[in-house]
Amino acid sequence: MHGNTMDNKNILISGAGIAGVSLAFWLKRFGFNPTIIEISPKLREGGYAIDFMGAGYDVAEKMNILPELEKVDIEFSKLVFVDKDNNEKGSMNYQKIKKLMNNRALTLLRSDLAKVIYNSLDKETEIIFGDTISKIEQDEENVTVTFKSGLSRSFDLLVGADGLHSNVRNLIFGDELQFEKYYGYYTSSFTINKFSFEGRAFSMYNVPFKQVALYSYAGNKAAAFFIFASPEKLDFEHHDIEKQKQILKDQFMNIGWKCSELLSKIDSTSDFYFDTVSQIKMEKWSKGRITLVGDACDCPSLLSGKGSTLAMVGAYILAGELQQSNGNYKTAFEQYENTFKPFINKKQKAAQAFAKSFVPKSDFGIWLRNKVFKLMSVWLFSKILLNQFKDKGLILKDY
Ligand SMILES: Cc1cc2nc3c(=O)[nH]c(=O)nc-3n(C[C@H](O)[C@H](O)[C@H](O)COP(=O)(O)OP(=O)(O)OC[C@H]3O[C@@H](n4cnc5c(N)ncnc54)[C@H](O)[C@@H]3O)c2cc1C
Repeated sequence: MHGNTMDNKNILISGAGIAGVSLAFWLKRFGFNPTIIEISPKLREGGYAIDFMGAGYDVAEKMNILPELEKVDIEFSKLVFVDKDNNEKGSMNYQKIKKLMNNRALTLLRSDLAKVIYNSLDKETEIIFGDTISKIEQDEENVTVTFKSGLSRSFDLLVGADGLHSNVRNLIFGDELQFEKYYGYYTSSFTINKFSFEGRAFSMYNVPFKQVALYSYAGNKAAAFFIFASPEKLDFEHHDIEKQKQILKDQFMNIGWKCSELLSKIDSTSDFYFDTVSQIKMEKWSKGRITLVGDACDCPSLLSGKGSTLAMVGAYILAGELQQSNGNYKTAFEQYENTFKPFINKKQKAAQAFAKSFVPKSDFGIWLRNKVFKLMSVWLFSKILLNQFKDKGLILKDY
């Protein structure tokens, strides 16, 4: 039941991350009229390499974007654990694992995934860059928002797709600390132009409590990805990039391998990312005409390895339920939460269980991990991977 008969067609989405652009894609396809407001002046680049499979892959197939995603598949040859002199200490063949997954798996840079979805948006979709919502009021009829730029506009519905530190969630549900569960790690990533690094391997270096991964892509570019443990949360503002860079340098500059070389390039990057490894847990995701999607309401954290694919799945279900209810947001929001929340709870629990062993905490732990990888067959590893990545218990409706 598309098009003119639909109620509540005008929908504002805060955030043009994976959740926001996926939601706009589906809303437009289902006959709604989405508008996106994104605080950044352009689509944000950067981020880590994502194992893209399971329900997210199925949603991408429904969006007909798999051919475009295949073009940006990183196609790692192998995952290699290295020591400080770059000697291989353990490895796993990536391509064999992909085959075992019937090739329904890709490895994508977060920014490539975001870009492909963004490029597939209907050209009439309104996207406002470089602005944000400063005030929200809702009543029986609509939601009125005031933008930081001063403009005031009314929409039928509002969706917060603005990430772990969601602005809409903060304005409507209150302080982030009520919902955030910090897991004792920080993560950071950035890309470097003209950085020569061998082959198509995903190389990983560890010292106790710290991990760095490095991989080449698109010829002469490299992406670096850091994780370090910190039992307490560190004191810095989310927008204070200089302080975040300094924290990363303090943690990694002197630990060997290629770290000092990588960190010496940190000021030439345009896509520096730094955040806590945290989950967001909420009783309810919706209030009146306002709901949340993606990390804003259900961040499973880096520990799950599934943040981006689950954001796509959540967006598909939310848009699909709005379409099925013919725009009746009360029914749709309830169905969206009933369908998706139990599944997310399971994913969050599984990720939580993984938290303690996420980064080896001693030299012995690193040695043991390398040995296990050396001995473990691809078949056994793929079983473990499949278990972690397959999205059992979620049936994606054909909306
Ligand atoms: C540039 C970038 C790099 C990332 N790198 C990593 C990484 O290396 N490791 C990792 O674990 N996770 C990373 N993430 C997070 C990861 O992408 C998400 O967990 C996952 O994709 C779910 O996405 P989301 O769309 O719900 O949230 P996000 O990807 O966080 O997207 C939220 C979007 O909302 C925008 N936004 C934020 N505040 C406002 C506001 N006030 N008004 C309007 N818009 C706003 C943001 O600019 C962003 O575009 C990164 C996210 C981004 C944006």
